[in-house]
Amino acid sequence: QAKAAGRNQFFGFDAKLDAKAYQRFILRSELDKALSRQEFVLFYQPRVELKTDTVKGAEALIRWKHPVHGFISPGEFIPLAEETGFIATLGEWVLWEACRQSKAWLDEGVCRLRVAVNVVAQQFWDPGFVAMVRRTLHETGLEPQLLELEITESALMSDQFRMMDVLSELQELGVSVSIDDFGTGYSSLSYLKRFKVNTLKIDRSFIQDLPEDTEDAAITTTIISLARNLGLHVTAEGAERADQVEFLRQQGCDSIQGFYYGRPMPPEELVAFVQSRSDNEEA
Ligand code: C2E
Ligand code: MG
Ligand code: MG
Ligand code: MG
Repeated sequence: QAKAAGRNQFFGFDAKLDAKAYQRFILRSELDKALSRQEFVLFYQPRVELKTDTVKGAEALIRWKHPVHGFISPGEFIPLAEETGFIATLGEWVLWEACRQSKAWLDEGVCRLRVAVNVVAQQFWDPGFVAMVRRTLHETGLEPQLLELEITESALMSDQFRMMDVLSELQELGVSVSIDDFGTGYSSLSYLKRFKVNTLKIDRSFIQDLPEDTEDAAITTTIISLARNLGLHVTAEGAERADQVEFLRQQGCDSIQGFYYGRPMPPEELVAFVQSRSDNEEA
């Protein structure tokens, strides 16, 4: 009896695992077709500069409009794309599309926005990465000053010497680099001295319980003054409430990207958002 129950449990557990693994298997095999079927879209989340209350930049965030499953979040399929190596192709498309979009907004006289594009370690490691960025800027006609690349601390740490080379080449090119999810990766702060980066993006996990959580308040305040003392720009990710924005403003944070101001949205909506804020400024 006990043996049978054990076996059932075993099979039940296995079946669930299989369903999940199967789903991943299907999604993974559909990834490359999804690109040619134009199922990927970029949403843009505004970054609001606190001093002027205007939008100077936006982060491009990919979405997969799956014909059967609807919107699939990047948290689900980016890891799959990294596993299969498809991230190289997909990442190149994201970069190209974001640069094309920023250039189009500029040409149409709509707005001047710096686009931030997420880049994973695998892309940085590719020996052709900087050349690819340079080529993309050239082909889309976007000035390098309007492009920012976001990379996580842990990705930077994987090969410090190579990273130093890549970061200085990007700096020479005129492209900005920000450290995404700052504060969550294992790191010694000394890399900030050696690596040429422009911006620290404070991770959402430190922002969500502000201002009540005293530890998070201490960490956030420390990151902001660290950035200021190093001459870096600092932006907070994931502020959802007015009291969080107020706290960050008082601490001298430069800009905020969070639901309080706006969620990631389709390009047309972002344009309306940017214009409504600059109108307010003139009024
Ligand atoms: P990330 O780069 O740290 O992007 C910020 C994430 O936080 C986005 O989730 C955004 O929607 C979310 N967020 C921003 N403000 C708030 C807020 O106030 N509250 C809450 N609850 N969430 C907020 P998203 O779009 O689901 O992206 C998740 C992650 O997927 C990104 O984290 C990034 O690591 C990755 N990702 C997204 N697009 C791309 C891409 O084009 N290429 C690569 N390589 N990775 C991407
Ligand atoms: Mg990011
Ligand atoms: Mg982040
Ligand atoms: Mg993240």
